Amino acid sequence: MSVQILPQFRLARPRDLKEASALLAGDPEARVLAGGTDLLANLRDGLLAPSTLVDLGAIEELAAIAGDGSGIRIGARVTLARLAADARIAILYPAIAQAAASVAGPAHRSVATVGGNLCLGTRCVFYNQSEWWRRANRYCLKYRGEVCHVAPQGNSCQAAYSGDLAPALLALGAEAEIADAGGSRRIALSDLYVEDGAAHLALRAGEIVAAVHVPPARLRSGYRKARARGAIDFPLAGVAAALRVEAGRLASLRVALTGTNSRPFVLDGTAEWIGKALDPTALASAVGKLVQHQVRPLRTTVTAANYRRQVAAALAQRLVRELSA
Ligand code: SF4
Repeated sequence: MSVQILPQFRLARPRDLKEASALLAGDPEARVLAGGTDLLANLRDGLLAPSTLVDLGAIEELAAIAGDGSGIRIGARVTLARLAADARIAILYPAIAQAAASVAGPAHRSVATVGGNLCLGTRCVFYNQSEWWRRANRYCLKYRGEVCHVAPQGNSCQAAYSGDLAPALLALGAEAEIADAGGSRRIALSDLYVEDGAAHLALRAGEIVAAVHVPPARLRSGYRKARARGAIDFPLAGVAAALRVEAGRLASLRVALTGTNSRPFVLDGTAEWIGKALDPTALASAVGKLVQHQVRPLRTTVTAANYRRQVAAALAQRLVRELSA
């Protein structure tokens, strides 16, 4: 049995985003620390050896949930427990509350944050292991090795994105607020991610996810997740949907997925149903087929890839039928 000891690092506790960003920009080996539920486990497994951890715990502007005039702004340091328990969120954006409540276990949610879940590392059964396990398997392409054990003929990492909040926020059309030493900018949340298991975040040096902005709530929404252990686990597949029905017709529909690809993504092909008379069964069936074609689960979990494809489609079908009924 190996003893998992944290490596040496410096801990910095900046007072504001400008200082935090400058610390990160000045040191490519520095990492952001928020709740630490993912980061500390990875440090103990020897997957990272950062020179400095930039603790965001003293930056108050990251800790608020507030109306922003055109919806709601959720700070990156808001904990998942607080998000799941927020009455406004539960009423106006059920998909967000359901996704937050489904992350890990209660102790994790009490410290895990919105920003941390959005920036969660991609996962793979050959990578998220102890140092001795990975060494015994000659590591892998993502870190210290030369071969991807999932796709040995390929030359890229296929690890799966496994955050639960991102699909809920994508389905609701959220934007990410990205801060650096010069200020902040807003981007579509989907632009935060790229399909690359080894580098799935499109953040530049010194940039920090400061908040998410969710547009005004006019949608029925929900999140469903399949996992190996019901009480505490990452999604084998997770599906969020948000839709609006007006006078018996589908006025909008967005479906987003996690757990099956290297990034969370919005399902293509739902637009052709907009404006048509709503038929929940036909719509759900069509969405299920789109999911089957667009998810790309590989052998990154102990659960079979085809099971994850089927379960993603089934979750999407059920959720869309429920929301449109
Ligand atoms: Fe390693 Fe391949 Fe898994 Fe990526 S998908 S973590 S390269 S085994």
